[in-house]
Amino acid sequence: MTQADARPGLSGVSTDDLTAWLAAQGEPAYRARQVLTALWAGSAGSASDLTTLPKALAARLEHDFRWSTVADETVVDSDGGQTEKALHRLSDGATIESVLMHYPATATRRARHTLCISSQAGCAVGCPFCATGELGFTRDLETAEILDQVRSANRRLRAGERITNVVFMGMGEPLLNLDRVLEAVAALNDPARQGLGARHITVSTSGVVPGIRRLTALGPQFTLAISIHAARDALRDVLVPLNRRWPVAEVVAAAREHARATGRRVSYEVTMIGGVNDTDADAEALANLLRGDLAHVNLIPMNPVAHTPWRASPMPVIERFAARIKAAGIPVTIRRNRGAEIGAACGQLAAERAGAPAAPAVAWRRQRLEAESARALRGQRSEEPVPAGVDA
Ligand code: SAH
Ligand code: SF4
Repeated sequence: MTQADARPGLSGVSTDDLTAWLAAQGEPAYRARQVLTALWAGSAGSASDLTTLPKALAARLEHDFRWSTVADETVVDSDGGQTEKALHRLSDGATIESVLMHYPATATRRARHTLCISSQAGCAVGCPFCATGELGFTRDLETAEILDQVRSANRRLRAGERITNVVFMGMGEPLLNLDRVLEAVAALNDPARQGLGARHITVSTSGVVPGIRRLTALGPQFTLAISIHAARDALRDVLVPLNRRWPVAEVVAAAREHARATGRRVSYEVTMIGGVNDTDADAEALANLLRGDLAHVNLIPMNPVAHTPWRASPMPVIERFAARIKAAGIPVTIRRNRGAEIGAACGQLAAERAGAPAAPAVAWRRQRLEAESARALRGQRSEEPVPAGVDA
């Protein structure tokens, strides 16, 4: 790792703090608006590019703050340019990813531009089907590092286009970096910055119960998505190791309370893994768990990740699963994965950069996952410990 740049990222500075900093420089209040407009709507690559500011002020801004905290971006296109995956390098050398997905307009819907962003470099939860989980945890992102992924995507859009949705479904567990995620959401909401309505922001969690409760107390800020993957503890212990700390019934109870208190539907995500969590028994267990709730289920075919023995469930199996959920009166959608060929599942580009582990390690890991999931399918709970570093 290289030495991190100690200057705070400008996008993560609150409007009040920026106004106070400008006042301390003897600048009028309208400068804050000029800086924010340049940051969020302009194309300047540094403060010194801002011709609207006096040169001395631009130099002081440059000295005290970083104009952007994400650099050296590698952008890879797929789906005929409809999906763009960006690998961002941070000042200490850590890498994170964001994915921009373009959905053309249809007869009934306007065009959408959805950006999937990271909240941490790596992740401590360690879900075995996830490329980020395989990388392990590096560190929490700063507020500006979260927001600068959005600014980077803004700059790549064509004239007349704007980001319509932001989803925290990239690298990391947002509810284990909740203070910064909430600051970032406030900036995304702010009309003077990104100006994106709460309904257009989704935060996905693998089930950090204290974090969900904290969000409930705050009131609706965004759509909450729960990565449920399995309704049975034995299997969820293997697929989402955090389940050993907060079991699925507790997660769903907290999410149910969130929906009740906020009046907002909770979205449940299931990554569909062939022969592992896609059986009729799994569909029944999920339907029974969510019946009567203000909930929506999203089924996502697993993106293949190196070093796992698993593949996506076949489409007819996913459709059968969906039908069982629907029969219980729970709305369900099947989401086609974008960008599979460029590895758009979270963490895949970074994992490729990290290099493949030695063949014996891969073989051992596959064997262990097969044995663990077979045991779980027989209903036996895992004896593996709770992952380290996940206390909220
Ligand atoms: N840590 C949070 C948010 C980031 S992961 C969470 O787990 O919810 C975002 C989503 O990507 C999760 O629903 C996760 O299960 C899903 N995901 C991870 N790896 C995947 C893969 N290989 N194929 C399909 N979805 C995957
Ligand atoms: Fe972390 Fe989410 Fe990946 Fe699990 S799926 S390892 S919680 S990023």
